[in-house]
Amino acid sequence: MTAVPFGDLKAHVRALRPEIDAAVARVLDSGWFILGPEGEAFERELAASLDARHAVAVANGTEAIQLALEALGLAAGDEVITSPLTAAFTALAVLRAGARPVFADVDPVTLNVTPETVERALTPHTRALLPVHLYGHPVDLDPLIEMARRRGIPLVEDACQAIGARYKGRPVGALSGIGALSFYPTKNLGALGDGGAVVVNDPEIATRLRRLRNGGQSDRYRHEVAGINSRLDEMQAALLRVKLGHLSAWTDRRRALAARYEEGLRDAGVDLPVEQAYARAVYHLYVIRHPRRDALAAALKERGVGTLVHYPIPLHLQPAFAELGKRRGDFPVAEKAAGEILSIPLFPEMTDDQAEAVIRAIREVAPGLR
Ligand SMILES: *Cc1c(COP(=O)(O)O)cnc(C)c1O
Repeated sequence: MTAVPFGDLKAHVRALRPEIDAAVARVLDSGWFILGPEGEAFERELAASLDARHAVAVANGTEAIQLALEALGLAAGDEVITSPLTAAFTALAVLRAGARPVFADVDPVTLNVTPETVERALTPHTRALLPVHLYGHPVDLDPLIEMARRRGIPLVEDACQAIGARYKGRPVGALSGIGALSFYPTKNLGALGDGGAVVVNDPEIATRLRRLRNGGQSDRYRHEVAGINSRLDEMQAALLRVKLGHLSAWTDRRRALAARYEEGLRDAGVDLPVEQAYARAVYHLYVIRHPRRDALAAALKERGVGTLVHYPIPLHLQPAFAELGKRRGDFPVAEKAAGEILSIPLFPEMTDDQAEAVIRAIREVAPGLR
């Protein structure tokens, strides 16, 4: 039996070790560790790879979302529409920006928000839309961008799981003008620590972001606004530059593994993700569905296959968001999905044998659980 872990960052680092060592040595020898040439080069290379005018590197994806909202001028009482089925950090960032998350239910197939659900969540206080490209599959963005434009409000893409994904042929991130990325180690482009970035087209907003991430300083020791400390260090920037060079090959490998799963699991008694016509997904996660999810996960564990659930508790049912006053039943599609979704192993270093082992294990156990 081939054991298949959910992820394998040791294998990931092993494959890159000489390049990583060289980048670390370069930074150590430079004697410069915060806001320097590595960070600037990374920002240029990142922006270019996503067809964005600017990238502003920050300490993590959560603060990328928070600072994007702050740079757009959101204030107390402003509502931001987002998904209840996402990393809690999406909506925590909204709270940290001083605004109020308002949830819109998701589509039963894509598990992303839709123009219809977002429309229903609009109020006179709506000041931004924050759709999430969940699992690395782009949201159907054009109708949402049009809705935001009509109302004169910004749309911020939470692209933390979707670097490299394409919507109608163009890279997500700054398609709406502004978006957030995370470089958490397990993300498709992961630092060896925390990291994040805002990609943005408007140069004035980019300037505001550069101030906000650095204590609000316009010049050294002159604090123009009340910013925070959310800088990406030179070490992480240098490592991310190494990894950015491999991202498109990793994405191709993820897509090849996803194609293999689709072929091998088509009639295996589980529901599979469906790539929409407008999308080129990057499979940050490969999420299947089964009505007896927990039993399936336990049976796979017995066969040596690691799985996780992203995410078991919709955000409106999390204690951290109790103040929003939402209840079970308010977002039925997200609630039902949260009980059925299961993320199975998919990472670039995964071998074909490992993929086959996962397929075999699911085919063995899933049909009997129906
Ligand atoms: C990872 C993630 C975040 C938060 O990013 P961090 O770098 O962990 O702060 C936000 N939104 C989504 C959808 C994510 O996957």
